[in-house]
Amino acid sequence: MTSEATVTRFAPSPTGYLHLGHVRSALEGWRAARSTGGRFLLRLEDIDQTRCRDEYAAAILDDLAWLGLSWDGTVRKQSEHFDEYRDALDRLEAMGTLYPCFCTRREIQAEIAQAGGAPHVPSELPYPGTCRSLGLRQRAEKQRSGIDYALRLDLARALALTGPLDWVEEEGEGPRRKPADPTSLGDVVLARKDVPTSYHLAVTVDDAIQGVTLVTRGADLARATHVHRVLQALLDLPTPRYRHHALVTDAAGRRLSKRDRALTIRSMRESGINSAEIIARAALAGEASGSFGG
Ligand SMILES: [Zn+2]
Repeated sequence: MTSEATVTRFAPSPTGYLHLGHVRSALEGWRAARSTGGRFLLRLEDIDQTRCRDEYAAAILDDLAWLGLSWDGTVRKQSEHFDEYRDALDRLEAMGTLYPCFCTRREIQAEIAQAGGAPHVPSELPYPGTCRSLGLRQRAEKQRSGIDYALRLDLARALALTGPLDWVEEEGEGPRRKPADPTSLGDVVLARKDVPTSYHLAVTVDDAIQGVTLVTRGADLARATHVHRVLQALLDLPTPRYRHHALVTDAAGRRLSKRDRALTIRSMRESGINSAEIIARAALAGEASGSFGG
């Protein structure tokens, strides 16, 4: 813990209604900001315009206000900042840390299977690097042909530039330095042909632009922090502290998802549960399993 004013953010995607897990996350950030006289910021992660809806964005703001989790300043919408992500992408490109990948999802899975990777959770395995070794001419030809491609981070090149990295993880017992090891994520996608950003790039740029000093988010995103740390180093951005909290699970121990309609704040409100009770439930859900870093 530190006594300086902490700037935190809550950054949901408007692809559904908030559920108890979101409230747990928001509460963590809100308390950290309010207890230090800091700021609690709100950001809507709406890059994927095919899945995001205005009605969900409006509902998120309405639910947070109803819960008393007031935020400071204006809401940052990622879809309004593509130029800032494009700038960051251009800088990474100039450093030679990006390469175009033309693989389809199916091709990537086939490549992993052929290399003896576990086929049950292919999305959990890093990209096998097929397109990293394409010659300049092959790349240019494929790009000219108009097929879709993604821009991936060349992690080996990136790490050669940054050297070893770490960050401060705030855990139950107090802060400790955690070494960054992004190899399990591999060469992540940082942009697509038509979209100049991805989750990883936008979040890293946003946290810096918004002056966030403590990132509170679910343990499911702990793995992403390793690659965000690399992007911060490449782009010369400050590194916030991180607190990855345990996920809220249902009675069967499964993490909540947008499919669990009964556990949305919307439906709890409709069934007459008051805001204090929802806040208490969210706080309790977090304490029951404790927080941990991944
Ligand atoms: Zn590829």
